[in-house]
Amino acid sequence: MKSLLIASSNPGKLREFQSILQDLGVNLVLPADIGVSLQVEEDGADYYQNALKKAVTYCQASGLITLADDSGLEVDALGGAPGLHSARYSPKPGANDGDRRTYLLSQLAQHPQPWPAHFHCSLVLALPDGDHYTFDGDCPGEIVSEERGEHGFGYDPIFRMAGRDKTMAQLPEEEKNRISHRGRATLAALPTLKKLLEKEMK
Ligand code: IMP
Repeated sequence: MKSLLIASSNPGKLREFQSILQDLGVNLVLPADIGVSLQVEEDGADYYQNALKKAVTYCQASGLITLADDSGLEVDALGGAPGLHSARYSPKPGANDGDRRTYLLSQLAQHPQPWPAHFHCSLVLALPDGDHYTFDGDCPGEIVSEERGEHGFGYDPIFRMAGRDKTMAQLPEEEKNRISHRGRATLAALPTLKKLLEKEMK
């Protein structure tokens, strides 16, 4: 069976990719599975550049078709913050996801509700021959002032999806995957992935 490398060590993201790609008939491999450990600095000017850098670096190191994403939360009242800095959005040293949610709510306290926001995901598929493909997904909603739900990761407990009265953390994983920014970008990538893998298997 062909292998596809997922260039991420975020366990929440990995579970999502695994659940969407499980029927692809491909062996999903993580960097640790093949003894690859790289530090890729996310210093790009946008999500696409960060995802491209991760995908190309891991693809070159492994020789495998590689999928990488870069994603973030953009809150209108904060001028699009935390955006590209979503994973590091807290002044507290060693901050965790809970600290980042608390910090985000503290930044929003002075702004009147509602707090519209959206998640964005850029996904890049890098091929060993140097070619690459890119896919994007968005998920609109708003920030809520109290945490709700046990699922997901990151800002999920304080992000209510548009048209639903549940936060992302209250949705079962499969449901989040179908409608999340990463889910939408991954579903958009599926036909290309299928074609590429069929070609490789011939
Ligand atoms: P990166 O894409 O690994 O740079 O990290 C993006 C950051 O955005 C994550 O660490 C989370 O804080 C946040 N984020 C991205 N996607 C999601 C999601 O689906 N739910 C909640 N938070 C997310």
